[in-house]
Amino acid sequence: MKNVVVIGAGTMGNGIAHVSAQFGHDVVIVDVNEAALERGKSTIEKNLARQVTKGSLSEEQKNETLGRITLSTNLEQAAASADIIIEAASENFEIKKKLFGIIDAASKPECILASNTSSISITEIAACTKRPDKVIGMHFFNPVPVMKLCELVRGQATSDETYATVRAMAVKLEKTPVEVQDYPGFISNRILMPMINEAIYCVMENVASVEDIDTVMKLGMAHPMGPLTLADFIGLDVCLAIMEVLHDGLGDSKYRPCPLLRRMVAAGQLGRKSGKGFYAY
Ligand code: NAD
Repeated sequence: MKNVVVIGAGTMGNGIAHVSAQFGHDVVIVDVNEAALERGKSTIEKNLARQVTKGSLSEEQKNETLGRITLSTNLEQAAASADIIIEAASENFEIKKKLFGIIDAASKPECILASNTSSISITEIAACTKRPDKVIGMHFFNPVPVMKLCELVRGQATSDETYATVRAMAVKLEKTPVEVQDYPGFISNRILMPMINEAIYCVMENVASVEDIDTVMKLGMAHPMGPLTLADFIGLDVCLAIMEVLHDGLGDSKYRPCPLLRRMVAAGQLGRKSGKGFYAY
């Protein structure tokens, strides 16, 4: 598992590249957008510098980590020498379908193909390849260098060997892996999103103020962040998309997205990234 290719240099891709390089892998980050590659690399530099300031990494380790990372816009070429490819491109099935077709054709037969998707079925992604036994979900959490969890999602055909190899890699990256079967929302979003959705129902039904709903969950349940603050942080469009996946995939009305969530997304109130959500930024 020496050679790692990370597809996508965005929020998640640069974090996955960061930890992979920090723990000794040679990493190529591939993106269609050159500016995104440069931004991703400079984010990694900044985050490594912060680790040095905090004393968790030496200056030498920082430089070695950076020395193991290269950037590319040529996916076929990067895929050819990869032992594992971790896809962290935009959350869109058509994009992922095309990418898995390309990497399946361009990589060595033994190369493992992983996806960091937060809601798309690993089984459906695997079906876009001729090696569904070597396809697995590797669901990291944001910010990747800080968050310890990694959900390892087994598609219908994921082999025990693939699972064991990827599990060992996650442990090497100092993550705590959790084994999850491929059902909508995996574990994290299946539990988190209905909680956020219910908090939005409480706002819609005037049960309490936004601040008080967050206070209840922070002080009463010891959550570090209230559900509405968290929704703004994740992005309300992302929350809506994941609720739709749960609703469509599980077919139970308990997963229906709250009408207020739909209305805020339609109005462009997406949370932190748009400057307004349940709070103003
Ligand atoms: P992002 O928008 O920050 O980054 C996506 C990157 O993918 C962009 O740089 C874009 O240029 C690139 N890209 C798009 N199409 C591409 C292609 N065909 N080839 C190569 N690069 C391409 O997105 P993100 O938040 O980093 O999310 C990436 C994946 O991780 C998604 O599947 C998302 O669901 C998942 N995820 C996100 C989070 C989160 O908190 N943001 C958490 C867990 C999982």
